Amino acid sequence: METVIVLFNRDLRIHDHPALSAACAQAREVVPLFVLDPAIPTGHRTGFLLDCLADLRESLRSRGGELFVRHGDTVTETMRLAHHLGARSVFTSADVSALAQHRQRRLAAEPIELRTFPGVTVVPPGLLRPAGGDHYRVFTPYWRAWTQATRRPTAPAPATVPTPGGLDPGTLPGGPSRERMRGGETLARQRMRSWIRQSLDGYAAAHDDLAGDHTSRLSPYLRFGCLSPLELSLHGNAAFTRQLCWRDFHHQVTYAFPEIGHRDYRPRGHQWRDDPDAAEAWAHGMTGVPIVDAGMRQLLAEGWMHNRARLITAAYLVKHLHIDWRYGARHFFQHLLDGDVANNCGNWQWVAGTGNDTRPNRTFNPIRQAKRFDPDGAYVRRHVPELADTPTALIHEPWLADQATRAYPAPLF
Ligand code: FAD
Repeated sequence: METVIVLFNRDLRIHDHPALSAACAQAREVVPLFVLDPAIPTGHRTGFLLDCLADLRESLRSRGGELFVRHGDTVTETMRLAHHLGARSVFTSADVSALAQHRQRRLAAEPIELRTFPGVTVVPPGLLRPAGGDHYRVFTPYWRAWTQATRRPTAPAPATVPTPGGLDPGTLPGGPSRERMRGGETLARQRMRSWIRQSLDGYAAAHDDLAGDHTSRLSPYLRFGCLSPLELSLHGNAAFTRQLCWRDFHHQVTYAFPEIGHRDYRPRGHQWRDDPDAAEAWAHGMTGVPIVDAGMRQLLAEGWMHNRARLITAAYLVKHLHIDWRYGARHFFQHLLDGDVANNCGNWQWVAGTGNDTRPNRTFNPIRQAKRFDPDGAYVRRHVPELADTPTALIHEPWLADQATRAYPAPLF
C-alpha cells in the first residue's frame, strides 16, 4: 500500500494500537490524523483531550512521524487530506456510540477503503453473542463468555512511523491543561505501572472504601484510549478484570443499542417528576444528605467521582427524587473526565432500572451505604467542609441546608 491515513478518535496511544501497527507494517507512508470536530461534545474534557493529543504528537515525532491535526467535520477533513495525498485507505479503531457509528458509516460510503480495527475494548463488541441474540443483556453470562474468549495478541508500539514530509501538521490549541489530572499516554502508563505495583493486589478488599480512594483512577485514560484495556486486563486480578469486563459489557450493549444515551433500554413506564429546584440542589451538592453532597461536590471539584458515590448519588436522583436519569447522565457527562456514552448511560440506566440490572427495583439507602462505605465520615468531611467538625455519630445524618440552624431534621430514610 502506498499511503494510509490512520484516523485517531479515542484511541490516543501508540502501544497496542492495532490500526497504527497494521498501517506501519503495510504502508509506505502513514498519516496519523486527529480531527477536532465541533460535533463531538467534549464537556469539561477539552483540556484533558488536548494533553492527550500533545503527548501522542510527541510520541509519533520521536518515531520519525507526526500527528496531523485538522479542525472541522471528521469525514470532510479526512477526505480532504486523502485527496491531497492520493491516499486510498483509512484505518481506524471501531467504536460504538451513535455518533461514532454514524461517522464510520459516512466514511464507508466515501470512495476510499475503510478498515476498522479493534482496540477500544478488551473483546470487540459484537464478537460474543448469546444463543438467539445479537448481544448480552445480562452481565453474569457475558462475564462467563468474556473470560473464555480468545484474546488477540497485543501489538507493540511501532519503532518508526514513516510519515510524508512537506505536509502542514496543523496546530493544537492552547498550552498544557490546568486540569487536576493531566492527560496523555505517557502519564497513563506511569500511573498504570505504579498502581499495579502498589494497589492491584488489595483491590478486591479496598475498592469500595470511599475515603481510602484505592481504585485505579485510570478511567479518564481508558476513556481516551491512552491505555489499551486489553493490555491492562492481562494483569490477572479477577476483581479488577471484572470491572474492565463491565466496561466491555456496556460497550457491546451500546453497539447493539446506540440510542442508549436517550432511550430507555427496557422501558418501564416511569413517571419522572419535574422538580428543577431539587435537580439543581442535587447537581450542586446541596441536597442536605451528606454522602450525596460529598459525591456531587467531588465531581465538580475533580471531574471524577468514586464508583460507590456514583451509585449512591445516581440512585438518590432517580429512586428518591424520581428525576429522569437523562438529567443526571447529562450532568455527569458534562463534568466527568471519563464521561463516555456507553459507560455513563449504561450505568445510569442500570441504576434507574431501565437498563441491564436483573433487579430493576433495587434501591440504595444512602445513609446505610454511607455508614458502610464511609464509616468514620472522612469522605464526607473531605468534600463537604462545612461538616468537617460534625461528630462521627451525626456525620451521615441528613441536615437542612440552612447553615444558621444546622438542624438535623426528621430522618428522610
Ligand atoms: P477502577 O475501579 O479502578 O476500575 C478500572 C476500570 O474499569 C475503570 O477505569 C473503568 O474503565 C472500568 N469500570 C469500573 N467500573 C465500571 C462500571 N461500573 N461500568 C463500566 N466500567 C467500569 N465509567 C466511565 O468510565 N465513564 C462514565 O461516564 C461512567 N459513568 C458512570 C455513571 C454512573 C451512574 C455509575 C454508577 C458509574 C459510572 N462509571 C463510568 C463506572 C465507574 O464508576 C467508573 O468507571 C469508575 O469509578 C472509574 O474509576 P477507576 O478508574 O478508579 O475504576
